[in-house]
Amino acid sequence: MRWYRGDCHLHSQRSYGGELTPAEVIAAAREAGLDFVAVTEHNTTDTYAAWSALAGDDLLVIAGQEATTTTGHWLALGLPPGHVVDWRYGVRDNRIDEQVRAVHRHGGVCVVAHPHAPYPSGTFMFPLDGFDVIEVWNGLWISDLPWNADNEAAVAEWGRSLAAGIHTGGWRPAMGNSDTHLRGQVAVPHTVVLAEELSAEAVLGAIRAGRSWVAGSPGIELSFTVTAGDRTGDIGATVKTDGRTAVARVEVDGVPAGTVRLLTDRGRVHQAELPGVVSWETTAEESAYVRVEVRHADGHMAALTNPIVLA
Ligand SMILES: [Zn+2]
Ligand SMILES: [Zn+2]
Repeated sequence: MRWYRGDCHLHSQRSYGGELTPAEVIAAAREAGLDFVAVTEHNTTDTYAAWSALAGDDLLVIAGQEATTTTGHWLALGLPPGHVVDWRYGVRDNRIDEQVRAVHRHGGVCVVAHPHAPYPSGTFMFPLDGFDVIEVWNGLWISDLPWNADNEAAVAEWGRSLAAGIHTGGWRPAMGNSDTHLRGQVAVPHTVVLAEELSAEAVLGAIRAGRSWVAGSPGIELSFTVTAGDRTGDIGATVKTDGRTAVARVEVDGVPAGTVRLLTDRGRVHQAELPGVVSWETTAEESAYVRVEVRHADGHMAALTNPIVLA
């Protein structure tokens, strides 16, 4: 297993508002050091051939689509050739479930895109049932800031849902994508996944399982583990503690000043200033899980992780 970095929400000129060719987006992805990308044009997959012709051993290109319904947008990642997700409905039409099920039948992943986006039809109004992952961090697109109020709302809502989700065994992982339309947006932010190999199946499996964290930019590195006795778990894993003390350890590179926050089902439980390695002790009885947010000195997000579950 190793960590791979990727951006799974990218548009070319084929999408409304897009100004880049597939070759320009792919070149930017390589320049950012990404290992994988997913093509998510609005409501079509007909540019996938142009994108995938630019893939190589160093860069995986995953087929996808963004469905821009009248009451929210979602991403289908890992689509088979020729499969187009319908987008011509809203929450009152009861049509989204059949579209989500069709993507799942093909082994694809369904992602709620920018759930609190502040423009008409951008806010996700459907129930989350059936969705695998929430895009809690969406990029610059119509904002001049890489971190803004709609992302803050999405992270808060996702974080609040984790406790009940983990308690019932059905938690939904978070991811972050740039939603690139314009020059200079690729990989801000992107998702870093722990996978067995660089294949669509392995990468999508890691995204679905929450073996991932979100980096605000390519220069940010993060490691987060929980150790209990001789057992150590990575992000997305469950650590069996057998009642022993669990030590959460966080190391961050590329964020010169700011704070590391640890959050559990009791809320924010620990905060430490960067630079420095963060270590915090708990037990499974006290904390059902631990997740990490790294904030820049101005409070904007620099990185966030999916949880490590304690059992
Ligand atoms: Zn969208
Ligand atoms: Zn988009």
